Amino acid sequence: MKFETVIQGGKLVYPEKTILADLALAEGTIQKIADPGQLQGKQTLDAGGCYVLPGVIDPHTHPVYLDSISGLSKTAAFGGVTTVIHYAYAKPGQSLIDIIDQYKEEGERTSFIDFALHGGLFETIKQADEIPEAFKRGVTSFKMFVAYAKLGWMTDDYALAKAMDIIGRFRGLAAVHAENGLVIDYIQDRMLAEKADFASRFLETSPDLAEAEAIFRSVYLGKLMNCPVYIPHIASEEGVEVIRYLKQRGMHVYAETCPQYLSLTWDELKSKGPLGKVGPAIKTQTDQDALWSAIREGLFDTLGSDHAPKDKNPEDDFFKAAYGSPEIETMLPVVWHQGVNTGRVTPNDLVRLFSENPAKVTGLFPRKGRLETGSDADIVIFDPSETWTVAHANQHSNAHYTLFEGKKLMGRVKKVLSRGRLIVDGDAFHGTPGYGQFIPTRAGNWPYNV
Ligand SMILES: [Zn+2]
Repeated sequence: MKFETVIQGGKLVYPEKTILADLALAEGTIQKIADPGQLQGKQTLDAGGCYVLPGVIDPHTHPVYLDSISGLSKTAAFGGVTTVIHYAYAKPGQSLIDIIDQYKEEGERTSFIDFALHGGLFETIKQADEIPEAFKRGVTSFKMFVAYAKLGWMTDDYALAKAMDIIGRFRGLAAVHAENGLVIDYIQDRMLAEKADFASRFLETSPDLAEAEAIFRSVYLGKLMNCPVYIPHIASEEGVEVIRYLKQRGMHVYAETCPQYLSLTWDELKSKGPLGKVGPAIKTQTDQDALWSAIREGLFDTLGSDHAPKDKNPEDDFFKAAYGSPEIETMLPVVWHQGVNTGRVTPNDLVRLFSENPAKVTGLFPRKGRLETGSDADIVIFDPSETWTVAHANQHSNAHYTLFEGKKLMGRVKKVLSRGRLIVDGDAFHGTPGYGQFIPTRAGNWPYNV
């Protein structure tokens, strides 16, 4: 029997093992896994000397800035990401359902890779009433901010309790941007009154303790409302300490960190001014080391890019500049370089964090997240020995910069398949707009399986 595609000679990576085996693909799925040399395909892809990874599932993307759903999905694919979960942000005055419908429509028309959606609530007290309808549309996770009070994005405890109560009853998942918004506003106001230099004192406006406090509060309120909680982009050692405590207490909480917190420090970024302004802030070497230790300890469930490229320049007013940076294309190679090449983690740890766990947290497993017979053929062929240098010129985001400019990495994405179709082949892109499918989630149940 001849399959559509056979991937030959690579090392298949699973959370619990690495095996030398070939993969046969047809009709968008993995049909067979066999000892090397046993399978025949109309098309053969040579993975000799390479790792074969399940495609990265990025649970944290924002396709509304310089990269639209289309552009984001392309730069994602070049980074080995085959499923993105966008935050569909409903701003004050907007309907959550209208926004979900708009993202879904745009994604089905333009996305090069599969996608799912989280709801994002900015006027939670009203928009929470739309959550039951969102579940019917396959959206089962909802993000709120307890940060950014002055910007008008903050959800107060009353509205948070209401939303968590509803989400919990529908067995979904609440994601919380955990930094205490009112306290940070006070600190910023005090600094404004002092005419402080925000560029040099950025870390004071994103305090570790304000993150730790907000993580603790969000997860305890979730417990009270019987609602699991997902904490995106944990950036500090204090945040990690609270996660450890909560997990030891058996709380239903998922923890995410991002490549920028695992690879950069504010000291290195200072000279780039607003380009390095992301929220929460990229902090100190001590924080970065604590995040890596926590990964080794198993405290983190997922990695997400928080890809949010904005139009910024180093000379812009730092205080007024927007938070966010382009991250999705560099995520896998940067974390691989900082983690695997330094011996901190194994390739197996990374496929757990990048693929299998995000699929389980969002209910996409086992269709996504693992190289298994019957699963979608979302596959990355990764060469661990190729050395290359990150430059804006070799990236595909519309951002005019990357925080990793000039960074030398070992390990590179060579080929990417989305549901069996080769969409990235070295520098060449073979994606088709609208090929990506909307995938409904069933978030928050793993490992409780309620
Ligand atoms: Zn984000």
